[in-house]
Amino acid sequence: MTQDERQQTARRINRMPTLGLGTWKNDDQSQCAESVQTALETGYRHIDTAQIYRNEEGVGKGIAAADVPREDVFLATKVWISSLDEEGVTETTKESLDRLDTDYLDLLYVHWPSRTYDAEETLTAFKDLKNAGHIERIGVSNFEPEHLDEAREVIGDDVFANQVEMHPLLQQEALREYCSEHDIELVAYSPLARGEVFDVPELTEVAEKHEVSEAQVSLAWLREKGVTPIPKATSAAHIEDNWAARDLTLDTEDVALIDSIEREERQIDPDFAPESW
Ligand code: NAP
Repeated sequence: MTQDERQQTARRINRMPTLGLGTWKNDDQSQCAESVQTALETGYRHIDTAQIYRNEEGVGKGIAAADVPREDVFLATKVWISSLDEEGVTETTKESLDRLDTDYLDLLYVHWPSRTYDAEETLTAFKDLKNAGHIERIGVSNFEPEHLDEAREVIGDDVFANQVEMHPLLQQEALREYCSEHDIELVAYSPLARGEVFDVPELTEVAEKHEVSEAQVSLAWLREKGVTPIPKATSAAHIEDNWAARDLTLDTEDVALIDSIEREERQIDPDFAPESW
């Protein structure tokens, strides 16, 4: 087997690991590199970044410094809304690859279906990147069912994942159903509701019962829903606390209590968000 073939095989067996590290606002390159290295050495195998986070260089350095081979890491980035025309997708992805110091991405997302996004043009450019071996999978982010319908018309089953805000205060029933029906992975961003999960009595009750943090309860609930959370954490203490959520199993009563939360609080709602929100 040639080196190229070995790398291809390694990429094919590389599935999306169920807990990722978010990196938005971890934009000091050396701090970001340290967080990524710590996460990988703790056991994480999925790192989430984006062109707009301006930390791809730090993420790349963290991966290089960690005692984990690149092929074992599921690396995802996102093309920003100003670059979703054909040339923008191609050029900025090459720049991302350079900054991340890698020759392929495990997953490349359309960050938002906004501004320069055009389903046909954008997704065809993504498909070309996939065919050329620069990316392994195509993802979308902040897509509602109508955007997913349109994307599937262009690239069919190649829509691998939809990354959206999801946590106990935004439970995303409709999207969960859609993604399960069409075999699309759901990735939960802001899975700690950007800190709000620490102030939800139902989560505190479950956390006290299991003697764990509310962060772990939120992440375990997401896992129970079949969703991949990508909590952002900077310090080793937070990175490790979130990783420990993998050992937490919620019982039926816990899940029912969290399901019954009726507060609906979206944390991320920029002016370019879908109109249907
Ligand atoms: P989040 O993960 O819900 O919350 C992050 C906040 O929680 C940070 O302040 C972090 O502090 C703190 N934290 C993390 N673990 C903790 C723990 N165990 N105990 C106490 N505090 C803890 O929010 P997010 O950053 O918005 O979302 C996560 C990731 O999703 C982002 O980083 C990004 O990768 C992605 N995202 C994507 C989109 C999109 O449009 N696709 C939008 C938003 C986010 P420290 O940093 O100090 O550890």
